[in-house]
Amino acid sequence: MMSSTNSSSPSNIEIKYTKIFINNEWHKAESGKTFSVINPSTGEEICQVEEANRVDVDKAVEAARKAFEIDSPWRKLEPSARGSLMRQFASFLRRDIDYLSKLETLNNGKPVEESIADINVSADCIDYYAGWVDKIVGETIPFSHDSFVYTRHEPVGICGQIIPWNYPIMMLTWKLGPALACGNVVILKPAEQTPLTALYCAALIKEAGFPPGVVNILPGDGPECGNAIAVHEHIDKIAFTGSVEIGKKIQIAAAQSNLKRVSLELGGKSPLIICEDADLDFAVNIAHRAIFNNAAQNCTAGTRTFVHAKIYDEFIARSVALTKKRVTGDPFDSNTKQGPQINESQFNKILDYIESGKKNGAKLECGGARVGNKGYFIQPTIFSGVEDQMQIAREEIFGPVMSILKFDSYDEVLTRANDTSFGLGAGVITKDLTRALSFAQRLQSGSVWVNDYDVICNQAPFGGFKQSGHGRELGRYGLEEYYEVKTVVIKLV
Ligand code: ADP
Repeated sequence: MMSSTNSSSPSNIEIKYTKIFINNEWHKAESGKTFSVINPSTGEEICQVEEANRVDVDKAVEAARKAFEIDSPWRKLEPSARGSLMRQFASFLRRDIDYLSKLETLNNGKPVEESIADINVSADCIDYYAGWVDKIVGETIPFSHDSFVYTRHEPVGICGQIIPWNYPIMMLTWKLGPALACGNVVILKPAEQTPLTALYCAALIKEAGFPPGVVNILPGDGPECGNAIAVHEHIDKIAFTGSVEIGKKIQIAAAQSNLKRVSLELGGKSPLIICEDADLDFAVNIAHRAIFNNAAQNCTAGTRTFVHAKIYDEFIARSVALTKKRVTGDPFDSNTKQGPQINESQFNKILDYIESGKKNGAKLECGGARVGNKGYFIQPTIFSGVEDQMQIAREEIFGPVMSILKFDSYDEVLTRANDTSFGLGAGVITKDLTRALSFAQRLQSGSVWVNDYDVICNQAPFGGFKQSGHGRELGRYGLEEYYEVKTVVIKLV
């Protein structure tokens, strides 16, 4: 279904910040270059943004180094004062949620309601990590009667953070939260498709009172700006969320430069297993949300829906009926459930995958085409009869394409679910507790959801097995990426 076109016009959303944020100041690009930011709902330009390159990264590193000097205001700040700054930032995210959610929707295309939900959970994430600042403690370690041994958890230093476009504000807070809680300084590059809300957040960081140079936000592209961060000799750590292809490049760049610490959150091809005892409508709803949420631009998207043979036909019939009702269109319309894909290249890639599904013999049950004639909207699409070796069952599509695969036995489906180079998320729908726990133990993925899907909480770790990445974000584990452990041994002479 398509949403109507009468909605609150995005044309009255004022764009306040388009420059590079270094040292709490707004800078033009040293190269003089700018790049175009596109509204995915229309394909039209929203504005031009200053394009940071290598020279601007060097400038940001200088500012960050100064901010991290041992007796700098930031280093001397008591942990609880650091927490107060973070809470202030979180409160500004909530204060400006009306404007910020519209800006997020304008730039990213997700429905406003989802932007609001994202910002709330992002503010919670900063608050959650603000709570950790005075609890990041070392240990005293018994060794010998005449020595005193203890550990200190010290910030790593200058952290490069490169984020994607699918959750622009949320990804920013996942990265900033643990880094700042541990006392690091940051150079963050938003995705070139979605720099606008990150730049607004930069203004909030300054308003919150963070000292200059602690957080620097550089809009720019991957090969120039992102690569300059990855290869920089004075950046101590890099955290990256994005594709496997670029994740590998980041790890190589880190190894070939200064062996900076690396954490990676990459793609997925996550299985959702619907057992024969599942309540059918419940399962259909979860599977629908698992794939189509955020226009399926989700690294955890439930892209392989395995359905038990006994309920297979009925599951398809009900899924198709639900999916045909999914309202796709203008994200400023409150009836809309699905906005556009992020840009033309993703849009074309997804349509190519749909073609490949048809060519390889999967059955197109619904969708399969674009919606409207401008912007990057794609109908929510379902394929049944998908086989494990088909391209649509193996590669990450990042678009609204549900692939339904039939299974007969639980041992069989476990093997098939694990037969992928990814391992980010997995789900099981069943009323049988033993079966649920058995799947939870044997599925090879960083998160397993039982009778739910894609439940990500600030308090619990999130990350991937296999080529879905390494390191964890969120929760206490997320802090471990952002401190060094120093052992101090004192001889009691
Ligand atoms: P996607 O396919 O979701 O756009 P990418 O992995 O291409 O994912 O991009 C995620 C982030 O990585 C973006 O901020 C992008 O600019 C950045 N990026 C892309 N190429 C590189 C690179 N060679 N080095 C560093 N960062 C890069």
